[in-house]
Parts: sequence; structure tokens; C-alpha cells
Amino acid sequence: MLAADFLHLEKDVELVNEFADLFHLDIMDGTFVPNISYGFPVVEAIARKARKPLDVHLMIVHPEKYVERFAKAGAAYISFHYEAAGEASADILQQIQTLGVKAGIVINPDCPVEKIFPLLPKVDFVLIMSVFAGFGGQKFIPESIDRVRAVRKQLDAIGRPDVPIEIDGGIGPTNAAAVKEAGATMLVAGSSVFKADNPAAAIRAMRG
Ligand code: ZN
Repeated sequence: MLAADFLHLEKDVELVNEFADLFHLDIMDGTFVPNISYGFPVVEAIARKARKPLDVHLMIVHPEKYVERFAKAGAAYISFHYEAAGEASADILQQIQTLGVKAGIVINPDCPVEKIFPLLPKVDFVLIMSVFAGFGGQKFIPESIDRVRAVRKQLDAIGRPDVPIEIDGGIGPTNAAAVKEAGATMLVAGSSVFKADNPAAAIRAMRG
């Protein structure tokens, strides 16, 4: 939703309700990432009109302080960065799950995928950034495809082949097939949908 038209947010919420599967909400704090996006009032407003689940991606320090409030705001999925949480990641995953919300771990393009392997038995999903977290509209990093493949292989190896892998950053109709083939199952698209002449057609093209 970072690429949505905030002066006509309801129009873009209805677009997602009608054509997409999830609302992906990027929360930036100006500390973990240099940018600031939007906060609770916007998330709560979207939640009031949303007929698809809310997927909250926290790009913030101390995610453990805020997960309960995002759960109350209506999040069905909450993910946070391994780089922000480190050793506390396992506990935060459990904290999110105790709130009845699906818990995901996120890694930036420069974080070795092996760092999150010990968490894979506990996650409900994994989010692999295909650009550096913090800004919309960036270009897809092609090496991300191998990173998706490596995480999918490890999930298979530990007997959890059904755990979704989400990919976020520069995703659109031109690379959807390649990331799906590598094992991604949740595709986050911002600019490629909201800035398209025909957003519904862009979503249909990705499904295809
Ligand atoms: Zn995101």
C-alpha cells in the first residue's frame, strides 16, 4: 500500500479487495530504515474497509513493543526484520503467534540466508527482501531468486515445504514467474500495480 494514492485510499483499498489476496503494509520508523511511512491511523482505516487479510511488514527497531497494537489493529500476518531483532527473533515470533497472528521473519538482501535457518522450524512464513527495505519503487535485485531457492530448499529439508515464502521489492509481471519458480508463494507488488495504467490487469498478469 506504500504505492497507493493516499488522497484516494479507499479507491485503492477496493482495488485490493477486488483483485488481490492481501494488504501489504510497510511500517517504517526512521531509525531501522531512514524513511518514515505511516502508522496506526492509516492501518486502522484500511482495516475498516479491508475484505482481505492485513499483512504488516515492520521495518522498525524493537518490534516486540508494537506487535500487540498491530494485532489489535487487525493484522493477520506480522513480519519483522532479523537484522532489527537478532537474538530476540525466536521470542518475538512466539509473541506474535500467541496473539493469534501469523509470524514471519524478514531479511534484507545483504543478510546471509543461513542466519535465519535456525528460525525456520518456528516461522509461519518468511519474507525475503528483493530490494533494501526502506523505500518504494526500487529495482529488483536478481540475486534474490537464488536466495528464495536456498530458503525453499532448507524448508523442504526440515519437512516444512508448505511454509509460504513472500518476496517484496521490485516485483511485477516481468519477474513474477521467475520468483514463483524459485519457490516464492506470496508476491508483494506496489509500484508495478498502483502506478500501472490498468492495475487490475497488472495483477492478472502476475497471476498468469
Ligand atoms: Zn514490505
